[in-house]
Amino acid sequence: MPQGPPADGGTSRSRRSFLRTGSTSVTAAALLTTGAVVSLSGTSATAAAPVSTVAADRRAGRPVALTPACDGHETPAAMEGPLFKPESPPRTDLRTPGVRGVPLDLTGVVYDTGCVPVPGALVEFWQCDQNGDYDVSGFSLRGHQYTTTRGAFTLRTIVPRDYAGRWGVRAPHIHTQVQAPGGPVLITQLYFPDHTQAYGRDFAALNAGDRLINRACTIALAGPDGGRYAGAFDFVIATTAPTP
Ligand code: FE
Repeated sequence: MPQGPPADGGTSRSRRSFLRTGSTSVTAAALLTTGAVVSLSGTSATAAAPVSTVAADRRAGRPVALTPACDGHETPAAMEGPLFKPESPPRTDLRTPGVRGVPLDLTGVVYDTGCVPVPGALVEFWQCDQNGDYDVSGFSLRGHQYTTTRGAFTLRTIVPRDYAGRWGVRAPHIHTQVQAPGGPVLITQLYFPDHTQAYGRDFAALNAGDRLINRACTIALAGPDGGRYAGAFDFVIATTAPTP
C-alpha cells in the first residue's frame, strides 16, 4: 500500500507487504565470459549527460549537472532481482562502518511525467559492496529516504563492484525503487559509465557484457576527485496507477 513520508521520520514502512525469500550471499567469483549483449530498449528521459559536460562543471567548481532535462518519459524499469530486502532503514548515507570502496555521492530529482518535482517520494537503494557481496543478513548498503520539497535526494554510498550471478556477470549497478505518494513503484537499476575507475575493473567490458544493462539508466559521473565520485541521476515516474 503506497504511502508518503511517515510522521515518525521514516521508521515505519507498510507500503509493501511482499517478502523476498531464498536470498543467499552473492560473491564476486571468477568472471564468466558472456554472450551477446541484450539491451533493454525503451524510451527514456534518463540518458546520462555528456561526461565532458559533467567533468567541466566539476573542474569549474559548479555543481554537477543533473541528468537529464525531464521530457516526460518515465525512467525505464528493470528487474528487481532476488536480493531486495523490505524494511530497510531510513538513511541517506549507506557508508556504514565496514563498508569500504570508492566513495560515491549521488544526487538527483524525482519528477512526475509532467516534469514537476515530486516531494515526499520514497527512494530506496540497495547494492553490493566493494567485493561484489550483498548483505543478506543485515542492511549494509541498503536504505531508503524521501525526497525534499523540491523533489531532491542525496545518497552517500560507494561504487559497487561487478559480480557473477544467475544472469551472468553483472556490471556494477545500484538497485533502486522510487514511488510517489500514492503512486506505483518504479523498480530499476542504475549503471556506471564506461570510463569509471574502481577496483581495477574494466567497466566498459563489464557494461558490454551485461545482458540486463540499460544504458539509459547510466549515472552521470564526475571525478574521481580526491578518490571520490560525484554522480547525478534524475528519475521520471508515474504518480498514479494506470487505469485498467
Ligand atoms: Fe544486483
